[in-house]
Amino acid sequence: MKVARVLLPLPLPEPFDYAAPEGMAVAPGAHVVAPLGPRRLRGVVVEVEDRPGENRPLKALESVVDEPPLPPNTLAFVRWTARWTCSPPGEVAAVALRGLRAPPPRPERKLALTGAKPARPTPARDRVLEAAAAGPLSAADLARAAAVSGGVVKGLCEEGVLNVVEIVEPAAFPEPDPGHAPAALNPSQAAAAGVLETLLDQGGFQAALVDGVTGSGKTEVYLEAAAHALAADPQAQVLVLLPEIALTQAVLARFERRFGVAPAEWHSGVSPPKRRKVWEAVANGRCRIVVGARSALFLPFRNLRLLVVDEEHDGSYKQEDGLIYQARDLAVARAKIEGATVVLASATPSLESLWNAEQGRYRWLKLSARHGAARLPDIDLIDLRQAPPERGRWLSTSLVSAMAETFARGEQSLLFLNRRGYAPLVLCRACGERMTAPDTDSWLVEHRYTGRLVCHLTGFSMPKPKKCPHCGAEDSLVSVGPGVERVEEEVRALFPEARTAVFSSDTVPDGASARALVERMAAGEIDMLVATQAAAKGHNFPRLTLVGVVDADLGLKGGDLRASERTFQLLAQATGRAGRADRPGRALIQTYAPEHAVLQALAAQDRDAFVAAETAEREAAGLPPFGRLAALILSSADPVALDATAKALAAAVPNAAYLEVYGPADAPLALVRGRRRKRLLVRADRHVDLQSFVTTWMSRVKVPGSVRVTVDIDPYSFL
Ligand code: ADP
Repeated sequence: MKVARVLLPLPLPEPFDYAAPEGMAVAPGAHVVAPLGPRRLRGVVVEVEDRPGENRPLKALESVVDEPPLPPNTLAFVRWTARWTCSPPGEVAAVALRGLRAPPPRPERKLALTGAKPARPTPARDRVLEAAAAGPLSAADLARAAAVSGGVVKGLCEEGVLNVVEIVEPAAFPEPDPGHAPAALNPSQAAAAGVLETLLDQGGFQAALVDGVTGSGKTEVYLEAAAHALAADPQAQVLVLLPEIALTQAVLARFERRFGVAPAEWHSGVSPPKRRKVWEAVANGRCRIVVGARSALFLPFRNLRLLVVDEEHDGSYKQEDGLIYQARDLAVARAKIEGATVVLASATPSLESLWNAEQGRYRWLKLSARHGAARLPDIDLIDLRQAPPERGRWLSTSLVSAMAETFARGEQSLLFLNRRGYAPLVLCRACGERMTAPDTDSWLVEHRYTGRLVCHLTGFSMPKPKKCPHCGAEDSLVSVGPGVERVEEEVRALFPEARTAVFSSDTVPDGASARALVERMAAGEIDMLVATQAAAKGHNFPRLTLVGVVDADLGLKGGDLRASERTFQLLAQATGRAGRADRPGRALIQTYAPEHAVLQALAAQDRDAFVAAETAEREAAGLPPFGRLAALILSSADPVALDATAKALAAAVPNAAYLEVYGPADAPLALVRGRRRKRLLVRADRHVDLQSFVTTWMSRVKVPGSVRVTVDIDPYSFL
């Protein structure tokens, strides 16, 4: 019997076996319809085996769906990811098939020659036959090509000389031209690009870290590597991952300038029909460059030669909902499976990548100077303990005077504050009540533009009430602390004649509005921009010469494993926006803790010292990259079931050396969307097979349907 092993989009640990009926063309990667109880599900075949001895009464597959099959390497990557993330393989496969949600495009009706001769030839009819000989055309195109009226074409159809054929054109993107507009690289860029080209030429799995200060030309370098890969192999495909849509727009434009055509785009803002086109074109090899967000990793590449992870340190590469994964790590895994080159690029690489580079696992390519005349900005700390802003204000006098000078020179300022909205907390002056979401343990953030209080975790929102909902006092609710909207209010009050704007995911919700705001800023139509991290990275604003960090201490408070690293990266990126062209830049950082190691390192522009200190601390504690972590997050609307499951898991921990389990403990965010949450944390030495441990552990406990257990390998969030 021929048995097909099929991944169904269900939380099952293994593929399901089905009988493959005689004559059905099932092969690995094929999309099939399979019966499951009363249901029929779409799945993907992972293996087809001849099992002469099979005597189970297997159900038969129903049909094969006419879609491009998943290539073998994509299947291998799906299975690898499932194992690595301790996720059901069918759910990972479902992520890989997301591009096929929209229905296939409808076939076009065209006219083709049947071979029959017209009863009455005329010069007009001859011209139609000649035009149709080149291949099927629509009736209108055929009439136009033959310079005849529609009636002539219609007559030939009625006589049976032409008939209607339905044609689906394969999805395709225009071919990029690697020679379109090559950059004139400076010597250090050329050296880095040269190494990448050598790695590509050597073939097989290769990994490199392009570690270059902001503005050093990392993008130029990987564009040339991409050109080399495309030129060397007419079938080669290139994937470039970017952390944000806002950033994607600017990079897409650079690809278009470099290769003469726009690359395919893949992120949450792309419509389902366009996603299907990208998916199909990637699968059939007619899409050579994809620029996308992390989920682009799961596209069905046929011949992926180069993967680039730009801004590789960025926290948004960690997918926290649904399938939990770190796209940077998965990109390296995919490159291994494909035998491709992976390039990680950043001005502030993650400690993990720096460690890998140091150990020689990645080629370490450094670009230490900005391109051309641009210089790195001078960075100064403003000690807010010595010169605090007035009550209810957030900008110190030294920052305000620097902004005034910058404005007077006709240059731009950027104020960075990584907090959306107007105020992070609203409380009642009368009774002290803090406004929180009804079903979640987090403060509601006030948004003045919309007049609403918003939960940034769940998206819950409500109009700001007139009375305190707790004590009923009128007009007693006060806004505490600043968000970007409030800082902009202050800027407008201080500089009424300046043109101001806010750049955050609220004011720039999609690619088009991001592009519009970036263009206005680049064209000098904005004098003072107040921005969250949405604008902290990647953009080049030639007239931007002053960056002010409103609250540098914000990210240091969380106290999780990566708080210092993340703050350093974010502030280095934000301050790195200043002085990108020929005008020198300056950055001022407001802080109440100027002695903190992160701030000292930023002011001294001494990344290496910071990295060395941080790495030593991690090593001493056995934390990543020197040890491995996994979190189990339990949640339930039923507190009794939650407690029982947490206890059962704690009692079922398998015996293992070089590994500790902590918890269960209430999660810091103990209530989200009405569900209570508990956490367990595993720490293991580097050589321990953490995934096997977690899988064995989970298999020992029967989790009731009311409790959800999520595994987070290498957690970034500890909430
Ligand atoms: P990074 O990615 O390291 O931040 P970019 O590649 O964005 O740096 O380069 C910064 C700026 O300098 C961009 O405007 C870019 O076009 C310009 N630039 C960098 N290298 C070159 C070069 N070799 N020739 C011309 N312009 C360059």
